[in-house]
Amino acid sequence: MIELRDVHKSFGKVEVLKGITASVARSEVVCIVGPSGSGKSTILRCINGLESYDRGEISVEGARVDSNDRSIVAIRTQVSMVFQRFNLFPHRTALENVIEGPLYVKKEPREQAIARGRTLLAQVGLADRAEVHPPKLSGGQQQRVAIARALAMQPKAILFDEPTSALDPELVGEVLSVMRKLADDGMTMVVVTHEMGFARDVADRVLFIDGGVIVEQGAAKSVLNQPQHPRTQDFLRRVL
Ligand code: ATP
Ligand code: MG
Repeated sequence: MIELRDVHKSFGKVEVLKGITASVARSEVVCIVGPSGSGKSTILRCINGLESYDRGEISVEGARVDSNDRSIVAIRTQVSMVFQRFNLFPHRTALENVIEGPLYVKKEPREQAIARGRTLLAQVGLADRAEVHPPKLSGGQQQRVAIARALAMQPKAILFDEPTSALDPELVGEVLSVMRKLADDGMTMVVVTHEMGFARDVADRVLFIDGGVIVEQGAAKSVLNQPQHPRTQDFLRRVL
């Protein structure tokens, strides 16, 4: 469903992606792990066109991702993103945040958007928080609203960029369990995370990236339990 072929990306003179080739199948959960600055966020941002790339090709369901093309709007509605810092509108209620995309991007009728928005909030365990503004919610609740908002676009895939890194430790579990449920329901997910337990239990495959290249990729359990490359071994020793 998502294909990257020899993707290169530089910021100024610095090449941060040096030929990334990877694919994500429908209903697959792929975790991207690697040190800070290795290019993980840049990969996600290139996949949904928030960032352009210089060389190679990215496609989603056969459609080439080109951040300069009008088609990028269609790609962004198909591939939602969940960020480390929620990015909710503070002056709108949880429900209003969730229905924003359906109303203004997808032009759904208001009643329909509200009904589905409430269903999605219930799905992430926030049925009783629909009318609350984000600053009055915990970090874990805000991130679950952000996940409901991503789902509201009825995406074909969701990209998560360190969705639990900004949370207090006791709030991480509630977000991971919502993500685990999505995976069980067959959502296609690409997850940048330092939660190795989640990667081991939920991911089908893990990509280890360092210095803008995929150093190692394979079945989650084999990469995490028996890493072959010394850089993967060294990284995992430090994070586990
Ligand atoms: P982290 O784990 O810290 O989030 P990351 O693996 O997500 O790191 P990226 O954010 O993809 O890393 O950044 C890769 C490299 O590209 C870094 O050296 C970063 O400084 C650089 N970079 C990222 N975005 C920009 C930008 N907009 N302009 C210039 N350099 C950038
Ligand atoms: Mg990052």
